Amino acid sequence: MNRKKIIEEIKQDYAIKRVKATERCDELIAELKKDSAFDKIYTDLIKKELQLMRDQYSKDCAELRKDVAELKGKIEKYLTKKHLSPSSLSPKYECHICKDTGIANGQMCECMKRELNERLSRLSSSQTNFKSFADLDKKIMNAHDIKAMEVLSTWCNNYPNVSKTNINIIGASGAGKTVLLECIAGELLKKGYVVCFKTAFELNELARLYHTGKSFGLSDAMDAEILLIDDLGTEPLLKNVTKEYLYNIINMRQVKNLPTIISTNLSQEDILNRYDERIYSRLANKAKSINILLDSTDKRIK
Ligand SMILES: [Zn+2]
Repeated sequence: MNRKKIIEEIKQDYAIKRVKATERCDELIAELKKDSAFDKIYTDLIKKELQLMRDQYSKDCAELRKDVAELKGKIEKYLTKKHLSPSSLSPKYECHICKDTGIANGQMCECMKRELNERLSRLSSSQTNFKSFADLDKKIMNAHDIKAMEVLSTWCNNYPNVSKTNINIIGASGAGKTVLLECIAGELLKKGYVVCFKTAFELNELARLYHTGKSFGLSDAMDAEILLIDDLGTEPLLKNVTKEYLYNIINMRQVKNLPTIISTNLSQEDILNRYDERIYSRLANKAKSINILLDSTDKRIK
């Protein structure tokens, strides 16, 4: 599921809302028209309104306008007598600004923006604590890590206009890798992108279930606009599963130019030893990847 598909879904839901609003109105009119007194006024009004629409640019319609106003007054009186509001014959839209079209002044209406953000948050991992770079306390960070944070923050600001779609955040346990991933997820979600946040352990489990035909949840991670994998290397190595699916995910996403953002405490050697050359070469592909080292030791990917 991506942003474009979600917007399509919302547009369909809005179309249904508009139809329902009109239907409710039509039902009420049909009911009122059973009374021949109302039927006569209402039919006259529709006729005169149509005539006005047709003639207003070519003729003097003062008389016609007066008739329409008079008939509207009669209808209002009729409705008041029946304890109905004068607006009850017009469709009741949930949003009076865009009348449930989702478009106001040629732009996405605020109501649709709210709906989009809600759906994006629901779709993006619910257990993730989405953060913002602005929330980080720079006083407790060293200059090196502040620089790293700035690179990531700039990347998020520029996304989707970025040349490198893979980010590897490398650092020892407790170096703050997860927090940085949560910030990236939060920033991109704020920009309206669907993010899929998984620990390597969870992703491995999804791969195992997929491999054994028990669940198809892996496709969410495969196709997510942005995939974040936390703590790569902490998952158990399952035969025919871990390496194979990790390679497929990373490779497929690189081919499709979809961002994959990984945190790991594995060194270059570790990745080669634990996985294989194919996974390593994709993660370390300099043309596609940004490597962020949270603590500099010469063992780590550069
Ligand atoms: Zn609206």
